[in-house]
Amino acid sequence: MSEWLLEVEDLKTYFSSQKSFFGHNSGSIKAVDGVSFQLKKGETLGIVGESGCGKSTTGRSILRLIKPTSGSIKFEGVEVTGLSQGELRKLRKRMQLVFQDPYASLNPRMSVYSILEEALSVRNQNTNRMERREQVLELLQLVGLNPNQADKYPHEFSGGQRQRIGIARALAVQPSLIIADEPVSALDVSIQAQILNLLKDLQESLDLTFIFISHDLSVIRHFSDRIAVMYLGGIVEISRKDQLFSKPYHPYSQALMSAVLKLDPTKKSERIILHGDVPNPSNPPRGCTFHPRCSHCMEICKTERPKAIEVEPGHFVSCYLYKQP
Ligand code: SF4
Repeated sequence: MSEWLLEVEDLKTYFSSQKSFFGHNSGSIKAVDGVSFQLKKGETLGIVGESGCGKSTTGRSILRLIKPTSGSIKFEGVEVTGLSQGELRKLRKRMQLVFQDPYASLNPRMSVYSILEEALSVRNQNTNRMERREQVLELLQLVGLNPNQADKYPHEFSGGQRQRIGIARALAVQPSLIIADEPVSALDVSIQAQILNLLKDLQESLDLTFIFISHDLSVIRHFSDRIAVMYLGGIVEISRKDQLFSKPYHPYSQALMSAVLKLDPTKKSERIILHGDVPNPSNPPRGCTFHPRCSHCMEICKTERPKAIEVEPGHFVSCYLYKQP
């Protein structure tokens, strides 16, 4: 049995970008372009990057909500890329998604009780109504909601409470992996901390494994054991959180870190300002995709994509500044 709960190898998810005059697809957006990582049980991997870097598509491809173009995704040792719809339904009891905007994902015509009861019936169809009622009330308590509010509708709750309902729904099927996609970015800062603490507590008490996706490095820092930095469809650096924050190697990670460390008065560092915009993923630059914005760019960077190399144990960087194999 592998030590990894999840193994992602060279994952690519491309979308058709345009139709030609004759109706043929004439281009593709490389939303995810060769992503690889592994995840241990009980661990939290944070995926950070700017909007459009492919982090959400990576999460959705792992859950097979989007069909990957190629690559391998092994969950609990089982290759999931070729599973049938029936097999996928079973798989999704083990992997769940927590959305950025729970309101959009909660049926406004169903009471919270019905939403959770429906989710519970996916897990076990053999329970009777009384048993399910007890389980719904238990779930509400687990996420810090008052069971007396079970008969209310989503619009009667605040944003933070709705996110708790979204989390309760994800937990109803007893998953082992939760992919949380920007779960607090729509919430006020004071509420963000409460939801992050709730997720941390649930992780410990239920032995959950998380992929935590966010554009906000401070949030990722709070929650993750390891961090993957994504840029234009690829992971440019991945390591333990402490390694990345003490010494980011990739020029893009250094720029991201400098913005966060600048907010910390105990750390002396200069903010690195990135020039230019993220290139269009339908026409990514050749070679290192970061090269048009990189102040260290060399000739080779413009033509060949750097491989990920291990700069210290468990710390991988894709950049020609470090010795390539
Ligand atoms: Fe910059 Fe070259 Fe490293 Fe890319 S490979 S980050 S362009 S130095």
